[in-house]
Amino acid sequence: MQSPSWSYPIVRWRKLQRKQIVFTSTIARGGGRSYGDSNFKYGSNSTNVAPNQMQIDFGRKVLRVSGGTRIIDALNYLGAHGFELFVVPGTAYATIGGCIASDIHGKNSHKHGSFSRHLKSMTLIINDQEIQITSKDTKLWKSTIGGCGLTGIIIDCEISIKPIKSGHLESRVIVVNGLNEMLKNLKTESKNYDYAIGWLDGRYQTNKGKGFIHYANEAEESSPFQVLKESQNLINGKYSFGRFINSPLIALYNVFTMKKYQRKSRMKNQIVSKREYFFPLIDLGFWNKLFGRKGFHEVQFFSPFGSEKEAEEVLNLIIKNQPVFLIGVKIISENNVGIIGFPGKGWSIAVDFRANRTSEDFVKKCHEAISRCEGSRIYLTKDWVLEKKHFDIMYPDADYFRAIRYEYDMKRLYSSEMSERLAI
Ligand SMILES: Cc1cc2nc3c(=O)[nH]c(=O)nc-3n(C[C@H](O)[C@H](O)[C@H](O)COP(=O)(O)OP(=O)(O)OC[C@H]3O[C@@H](n4cnc5c(N)ncnc54)[C@H](O)[C@@H]3O)c2cc1C
Repeated sequence: MQSPSWSYPIVRWRKLQRKQIVFTSTIARGGGRSYGDSNFKYGSNSTNVAPNQMQIDFGRKVLRVSGGTRIIDALNYLGAHGFELFVVPGTAYATIGGCIASDIHGKNSHKHGSFSRHLKSMTLIINDQEIQITSKDTKLWKSTIGGCGLTGIIIDCEISIKPIKSGHLESRVIVVNGLNEMLKNLKTESKNYDYAIGWLDGRYQTNKGKGFIHYANEAEESSPFQVLKESQNLINGKYSFGRFINSPLIALYNVFTMKKYQRKSRMKNQIVSKREYFFPLIDLGFWNKLFGRKGFHEVQFFSPFGSEKEAEEVLNLIIKNQPVFLIGVKIISENNVGIIGFPGKGWSIAVDFRANRTSEDFVKKCHEAISRCEGSRIYLTKDWVLEKKHFDIMYPDADYFRAIRYEYDMKRLYSSEMSERLAI
């Protein structure tokens, strides 16, 4: 049995499966690469959307694509015609519909914003009616972007595409001392690069250890598009290794990775494939299973520019209490498009740790701290713990979202474990 999402505990999923309640609502499901409980509800059916219906409008540089199409398939189709998507997440197995429903951001979010910026139109099914939405000013648009599938099923969309200059990237690694230096460097240097992602060593308090930033630009030398190979799935099978994910192993991983990148930082610019840069863990496959049957938490939060001090306090709270891997840091540069969408203008900070008997209470404590920082919020697609009281503070337009759901009778038609938890 497979967990329905990336970090949700398989033990809890099994328990839900044993309940014999049947609901009439549904929820869209894509590639199951969200981390929480937004793509299923026990007793309800999940709806998958047709994949791989794709057509390029070369004149307008637009791809028409069905909502169930995986990112890897869209990239391979586009690549064969000399194009690519502007924004992709760190997994090749999310679907187009899932990327809209979470309004995902990529490693180029400082330059190209989030997925929805490039979206031209979408077709939504609400209560068996097909509605084409073309205006970004409508409430259906704003509630569907980052709306976690709660406004209906996205069956297809039109999205802008860009010509590929090269199949490769020229990357550069910079080692930094601690979080403050990393944020400063990202702010000043990232404008010189198409892609930027920072990783901080989670063994130390934020400014005591080292980190590195992996910058990249399209390679100058043109090289042909390389077909993105499927994952080798080196990790699959059972969720049985959880107990091995402990402090010594995490420390070992961090030491190894830091050393590797310190070595890379001494080299001149390196040519890397887009597959390797965009999807660095792709060949590991189901690495989430390493965390075991209880799953894991990713606390990914958005912190507006100007609240770096508060973000640092939250991070130090986590580091003090949990053994954590590398901490991912990105700049996001997007207007708040979705009513309950994640991206804004500021920092995205992500920390993973293993779930256990007490971790849920600890995550709630983190949410409490995050909710006290004005404008900060949790990325809903990466969470299965957030409570309504914190959600309402982090997403001040939550009631507007609820009102739209009510107006279109969406609450009766589309619901997930997440929507029940947050009472939306
Ligand atoms: C290794 C890894 C790396 C990641 N990296 C990033 C990253 O860099 N940036 C980032 O932003 N995210 C990242 N993510 C998160 C992931 O991109 C999002 O959670 C995305 O929404 C997953 O899409 P999915 O197709 O797998 O959807 P699912 O996980 O199945 O569902 C996610 C949500 O989308 C809704 N949904 C799915 N399909 C539709 C549809 N057709 N119509 C309406 N709603 C729909 C579901 O109802 C649910 O609410 C990463 C995830 C993993 C596992």
